[in-house]
Parts: sequence; C-alpha cells; structure tokens
Amino acid sequence: MRFNWRCGRAALARGDEVIAPSQTAVATIAAIEMTGASPVLVDIELERFGLDPGAVAAAVTARTRAVIPVHLYGCPADLNPILQIAREKNIFVIEDCSQAHGALYHGRKVGAWGDIAAFSFYPTKNLGAFGDGGAVTTNNADLAGKVRLLRQYGWKERYVSQVKGMNSRLDELQAAILRVKLRRLDEWNARRRELASLYLDLLHGAGLILPSQPVDSEHVFHQFVIRHPRRDALQAHLLAQGIHTLVHYPVPVHLQPAYANLNSMVGSLSKSERAAREALSLPLYPEMMEEQVRRVSWVIREFM
Ligand SMILES: *Cc1c(COP(=O)(O)O)cnc(C)c1O
Repeated sequence: MRFNWRCGRAALARGDEVIAPSQTAVATIAAIEMTGASPVLVDIELERFGLDPGAVAAAVTARTRAVIPVHLYGCPADLNPILQIAREKNIFVIEDCSQAHGALYHGRKVGAWGDIAAFSFYPTKNLGAFGDGGAVTTNNADLAGKVRLLRQYGWKERYVSQVKGMNSRLDELQAAILRVKLRRLDEWNARRRELASLYLDLLHGAGLILPSQPVDSEHVFHQFVIRHPRRDALQAHLLAQGIHTLVHYPVPVHLQPAYANLNSMVGSLSKSERAAREALSLPLYPEMMEEQVRRVSWVIREFM
C-alpha cells in the first residue's frame, strides 16, 4: 500500500501522478486534483471508449501512484491489461463506475476489480438518487476503514478526529430511496440492454459507427453512443423532429479552459478528440417504449 495518509484528507500528495482518460466526465479529473496529485491524461480506444492500455503503459513514471479506468457509457474498460500494468508497476487501480452500476467484466461486476472503486448516484445514473449521492467499494479492509474515517471528519470516536476528514455522508433520505431502487437495478439494466439490441438491429448497415458489445463484458448502456463524422448535422436533424440527444462529452478535459495549464498529457489524444467530435448519445432509458426506439432509428435512417 503506497498511499500516504499522513495528511488525512489527501490520500495522494502533491507530486504524485494519477493516470486517467481525457475523454471522461470532468469529475474524474476534479477528484484527482482535490488530492493535490497531478492528473496525467492519456487517450482512450474507440471500441469500448475505455483507457488505452498501451497509452497507460507509456505514461507510467516513477511518480505514478494510481490509474483510473472509467467504464464510460456503461461499457467496462478492458481491465486485465491495465491491472497487469498496475501490478508490475506497483500502482493503485481506482475504478470510476459512475456510469456502469451492475456491468460485468469477465463475469464479475465492475467495481470489484481494482483496489477501490467510486460510484455516483447522481439522478441521471443507472442507479440514481433524488439528489446527489455516491459510494465507494473496496475489498481492502484498510482502505475501507480509511474511507469511513474521511467520510465524517476523520472521526473514529465521535467528535475526535483521527485524521482531517470531511462531511461526505450519504444523506439518509437518499440512502432510503437508493435501497429500494437498488432491487430493480438488474431489471432496469436488462431493459436498457434490450432497447440497445433493438437500436443495434434497426441501425445495422445505416452507415453509423454503432456501440460495440465486447464478448467478455456485459454493457449496461448508461448511454447508447453512436459515432458519425457529421454528428452536429445529425443532432440538428433529430432535434428538428423533436428528438433530443446529448453529446458525452463535447470537449475532452485537456481542451477545457480550466485545464489548459494541465501540462501532463502523454502521447496523442487524437481518439479522445475524435470521440468528442463524432459521438452522439441517443435517447435510452428503461421506461422508453420500443416504438420510440423505432422512431428515432427511422429519423436517423432518413438523415443518412
Ligand atoms: C457522474 C460521473 C461522475 C461524478 O459523479 P458526481 O456524483 O457528480 O460527483 C464521475 N465520473 C463519471 C464518469 C461520471 O459519469
């Protein structure tokens, strides 16, 4: 265990490096910066939209302490090669599971592979609260104990801080709502997968790049993301027909104004930039009707 708990709140310290993808929710990178460590942004691959293992290997230095695979859009990142690099280089693996609650990689849930994992329960996620919330999972008792300390002011015993912690308690009302919704997560994920299959059938051969479903994984389709070089025109065409779509994400972190001085990109980030230009998230949610998927697909075919 190479984390440094000296300063309590900062698990990582200034000077440490954490490797993460540039094409992710900015929250992934903001979390690294909160610790004082430096994000080192690397490229993704365009099959799973996950960290490119080759890019990770090239980015490791003597200061690297952790790597954060993000299971973007609900598709598990290719963890095995990343775990192998991490073992060889003695660095931590922190999974960002915020978009992949319930997804499987080689038959085992994401969040159970790395040293520790983070889940978001923001209302739009596959498991969402009615406000903000989140959870951390780990099989490491030492890390679990430390997370419990940090969650509430570093208290082991009430009002006595062992380390400098914070207030990061899960609100009890949110917890009660999540507890009920959790029972239906698998069912909702199955429905997402069913609707995704329908999209894949209906859009087959239409000239778009469709999301892949790696055979070693069970994708939970937090987003159904297609790629097309004329993405903006396609998005406008859909909107004109009353179909609202989103782009996750239009600007990779290394091109965002707040991170312009981030001086730690490694290698080409061309695939991240390409995804930002070409990706479009089609409507997909468990309550969606098959008729709606048919209509979206039809309007896309009309555009093509
Ligand atoms: C939503 C999300 C987060 C952040 O979650 P918050 O609950 O808003 O802090 C982090 N990473 C990814 C990939 C996300 O999609």
